[in-house]
Amino acid sequence: MTIDNNQRLFERARTVIPGGVNSPVRAFKAVGGTPRFITRAQGAYFWDANDQRYIDYIGSWGPMILGHGHPAVVEAVQKAVTEGFSYGAPTEREIELAEAILALVPSMEMVRLVSSGTEAAMSALRLARGATGRKHIIKFEGCYHGHADALLVKAGSGLATFGHPTSGGVPPEAVQHTIVLEYNNVAQLEEAFALHGNDMACLMIEAIAGNMNFVRATPEFARRCRELCTQHGALLVFDEVMTGFRVGLHGAQGVLGITPDLTVLGKVIGGGMPLAAFGGPRAIMEQLAPIGAVYQAGTLSGNPVATACGLATLTEIAKPGFYEALSAKTRTLVEGLKSAADAEGVPFSVASEGGMFGFFLFDELPQNYATVMTTDNARFNTLFHGLLDRGVYIAPALYEAGFVSAAHSDADIAATIEAARQIFKTLAAH
Ligand code: PMP
Repeated sequence: MTIDNNQRLFERARTVIPGGVNSPVRAFKAVGGTPRFITRAQGAYFWDANDQRYIDYIGSWGPMILGHGHPAVVEAVQKAVTEGFSYGAPTEREIELAEAILALVPSMEMVRLVSSGTEAAMSALRLARGATGRKHIIKFEGCYHGHADALLVKAGSGLATFGHPTSGGVPPEAVQHTIVLEYNNVAQLEEAFALHGNDMACLMIEAIAGNMNFVRATPEFARRCRELCTQHGALLVFDEVMTGFRVGLHGAQGVLGITPDLTVLGKVIGGGMPLAAFGGPRAIMEQLAPIGAVYQAGTLSGNPVATACGLATLTEIAKPGFYEALSAKTRTLVEGLKSAADAEGVPFSVASEGGMFGFFLFDELPQNYATVMTTDNARFNTLFHGLLDRGVYIAPALYEAGFVSAAHSDADIAATIEAARQIFKTLAAH
């Protein structure tokens, strides 16, 4: 019998790393089986410890929009590495990256660079509270904004009440100002503002949500978020860690035509290196230290290697036609999956924007988290493992979005659809 190197590494990892992984979803807990330990990646593929190749539809959960090992990015990173890893003093490249980001996201006049999406969302929240002098915040069920205490919260009982911690180690006091509402529910949103609008610091939202698979804010809901924030003097914060430079060159705000007050970015802006950012109007951003009273800092913030990687990535994605090609590719994938499912009579629905997509094992596209979570786990797991066995790696959880990169070829997409077709036959029979 051949040795399964993934299994061997997983057993070894579990003795030294909790659950064998450094971020929970990697552990395959929801889908069962052995996580694949990745040894290398190139273009649209990565390889596991058994040297099995996979077509990669997670792309490091979003950042790898150019595919793995893009030559221009590799060259920029290699050059940066020879100049030093980190200085703890400012560099010109940080200005260049800030300028590049601001040129593409018109709602932002200033930006601060940090190292993770969690840090960026947490800092944007502190800034919103500091700038408004208010405490309460709104978040939506199914949106993820990283693992800061105040944002790890599920809905309370009853409408527009304050939420409960979703994690051990978060005291109820840490979430006592967080109101959790149903996504796309305008009536709840209006009620929350009617009750608490005077002390509302901000509303934070994934305007195209990628942490409950793929769910769009309806145009009316997005518009009401903007209007109610303006009306009550609260800041509208778009968490675009996933959607920024992913659903289009100007993010979800560009797609929806809505201008938020603050924007949180991550993933693509680092091109696979630890880099994230938050930004907005000058008058708000200048309330941050060292000018203002809202403290925020980071040893590795604006890291010279990460900024080189981010800049090279932004240069490539800003080239004319990039998003048209990426969107077309993603549409070919989801439409192909849909046709294959239809042909076998398997209930299926799909959505995509730019290089981000979702699919559901039921006919109607869901509007909120509760509906997404009605997905039959066993059927999703059959699809997931069937694809994995055929060399296609999708997110190992039904509530995650998928990502297509510029490196995915027509042949990769055709092979993915063909692999899915075979599994749809099994699903149709059950
Ligand atoms: N916000 C959103 C919308 C995200 O999708 C994520 C991560 N998936 C985060 C924040 C947190 O980012 P990080 O994992 O870099 O801390």
